[in-house]
Amino acid sequence: MKTVPRVLIVEDEPAIAELIAVNLKHNGFAPVWAGDGVAAQRELDAELPDVILLDWMLPGQSGLSLARKWRADSRCKAVPIILLTARSDESDKIAGLDAGADDYITKPFSTKELLARVRSVLRRRAPEQTTDTVTIGELVLDAGTHRVMYQGQSLKIGPTEFKLLHYLMTHSERVHSRGQLLDKVWGDHVYIEERTVDVHVKRLREVLGQGGRHVETVRGAGYRLTAMVAPTISA
Ligand code: CA
Repeated sequence: MKTVPRVLIVEDEPAIAELIAVNLKHNGFAPVWAGDGVAAQRELDAELPDVILLDWMLPGQSGLSLARKWRADSRCKAVPIILLTARSDESDKIAGLDAGADDYITKPFSTKELLARVRSVLRRRAPEQTTDTVTIGELVLDAGTHRVMYQGQSLKIGPTEFKLLHYLMTHSERVHSRGQLLDKVWGDHVYIEERTVDVHVKRLREVLGQGGRHVETVRGAGYRLTAMVAPTISA
């Protein structure tokens, strides 16, 4: 399971690539740089990234034709692509989206905007990546069948608690603020009070019983799901 999203930067200008890479790195991403389509293909063959930042104007194959090629490839068609383009012409943007890009950013762009776009495509793609089983300690979550087990026993869990647990389990050992959890679990366009998070965490712990110990409250910060809990004391 990946906890640090891998971002493939396909950009022939080293200064721009480096600027993007540094910013991604500082914000919890793992950037990989490829200077052209050939190098990018090599990276894709080695390991699929979580997002591709693809420059339009590249030596050799253009970003547009690469986007089209990767969209048609069964192995990498689900990887979100953000096109980087100096072209601000509307028809070019449409061509980019038609080629299969999920989003585009017009150069020059702010790193803040870039990060927002990257997070946004990751969030949009996230529901499709929920077919895996996640295991932490004796806690098992099967996203495909929507089942949660603790110590081999199936638990009855509500949809919000399930989403919350799924997010925490796939991003374990990290502290998440209430605001972050609202954003990731409830969605960024919904206004809900942060106290709602506490209510659902409480319910989640009740559902998990002894397994609720994995959900830690980090004073003044938020919540963390951890594999490191004290062993159960048997009565
Ligand atoms: Ca370029």
